[in-house]
Amino acid sequence: MTTVALKDVTKVFPDGTIAVDNVSLDVNDGEFMVLLGPSGCGKSTVLRMVAGLEDPTTGAILLDGELANDLPPRDRRIAMVFQDFALYPHMTVGENIGFPLRLSGVDQQPRGERVADVASALGIGDVLSRKPSQLSGGQRQRVAMGRAIVRRPGLFLMDEPLSNLDSGLRAELRAEISGLVRELGVSTIYVTHDQAEALTMADRVAIMRKGVLQDVGTPTQVYGRPATLYVAAFLGSPRMNLLEASVYVHLDRYVALNLGEQALYLPWDDIRARAVAHYHGERIVVGMRAEALTPVAPGTPGDVLQGRIRYLEHHGHESLAFLDIGATAIVVDDLGGPVTDTEGANGTSRLRRFGHVMQRLTGRVGG
Ligand code: ATP
Repeated sequence: MTTVALKDVTKVFPDGTIAVDNVSLDVNDGEFMVLLGPSGCGKSTVLRMVAGLEDPTTGAILLDGELANDLPPRDRRIAMVFQDFALYPHMTVGENIGFPLRLSGVDQQPRGERVADVASALGIGDVLSRKPSQLSGGQRQRVAMGRAIVRRPGLFLMDEPLSNLDSGLRAELRAEISGLVRELGVSTIYVTHDQAEALTMADRVAIMRKGVLQDVGTPTQVYGRPATLYVAAFLGSPRMNLLEASVYVHLDRYVALNLGEQALYLPWDDIRARAVAHYHGERIVVGMRAEALTPVAPGTPGDVLQGRIRYLEHHGHESLAFLDIGATAIVVDDLGGPVTDTEGANGTSRLRRFGHVMQRLTGRVGG
């Protein structure tokens, strides 16, 4: 439908705020790109520049390969959906959805047919004659989506469209929006600060911090191989364990990562050993996801870290074990359920028994 390219785009506001700092980013044809980052990182400013609502201070914005810096918003074949989707309160749902078609002079009959198609695709075909005040929040958001897609845009720009909804509805609409957009094959830039939204909806995620693009990749890439420490710490809950270590290569046979009073030994044929070997003699930060740490029995050889559980936090199907070595592990008990301190035969506390087993942990490096 439409491709978007930002080339070295910077936006400095008149008060000197650098909202976007030398960002280059490509959005492919039909791609669902999510811009993710904390409040104030410049996501909305990128979106507004693509829409033509804000001019870049320097750099180029290309739509379908053509320089679009001076192209007025109405000539960009763009539809926008915002967080505070303003519907016209005096119009029915059908009139709201059909409004962009009416503005561009489409006759009543084809307009009605198109509105009916769009409404049925969004599951709101039965409320076409209601007013917005008679709808639920989710239905209102679907009407806003309907109004955005009715003119078959080449590009969707969505700025936190779900953030005013409760969490159950958000999860439901998340799947619906990404399904619908993929069905339509329309390229999309979707702005959010919610990483669950980003990782579940995106083809690719672009992560921003203080105006600077930190990383771009598929959800698996940015989660598994984050480009910067910031991205490593930002994505994922619980936060990735980041432990400082010194690297020693031992005669090309194994690599030791010295973490204070203990070390992780990685055999030379382990891909992780070679990934860190060229840092020999240096201090590095080792990233380990909590879910990559597996409890093992005391005495287990290999890349094993030892830590005592300071406390356990229960999360229904699993528990988080906070260890005294500054790391967190996700643990389940031997039946596959959460670790609890209330069960157990003969009044023995499972927590205590598990705590004993947890004295040793395997640590996978990287990721
Ligand atoms: P949020 O999620 O809170 O909307 P964001 O990541 O979308 O944040 P932007 O709205 O793009 O961030 O703002 C980026 C930076 O630019 C912020 O520091 C903001 O205060 C600043 N900013 C935005 N608009 C203007 C403006 N018109 N004049 C001056 N500074 C601005």
